[in-house]
Amino acid sequence: MQAYQCRHCGYESLTTKYYCPKCRHTEFSKVNINETGDIYSYTTIHIAPPKFAEHAPYHVVLVQMTDRLRVTGYMNQDVNIGDRVRFKEFSEGAYVFEKV
Ligand SMILES: [Zn+2]
Repeated sequence: MQAYQCRHCGYESLTTKYYCPKCRHTEFSKVNINETGDIYSYTTIHIAPPKFAEHAPYHVVLVQMTDRLRVTGYMNQDVNIGDRVRFKEFSEGAYVFEKV
């Protein structure tokens, strides 16, 4: 899995940015990160927008991927804070995770 790291302050993001939201620097390096992380927080969605209705109920999870990077994604397995999860696929514009 690839991320972009600000060359000035180390801020990490999964998507390219015109400038770093932390320090406004404009140069980034591509870095490889592990595809596993820990659940930092989550919310259970029972009534989903039409696009995701068939998947409900599901969880919107915030996954701590590295010290500096948290990723918002989706899971349809039961989760708890601190659970170890793995990036499964990029589907319909969303990051999908599964338990390790
Ligand atoms: Zn920066």
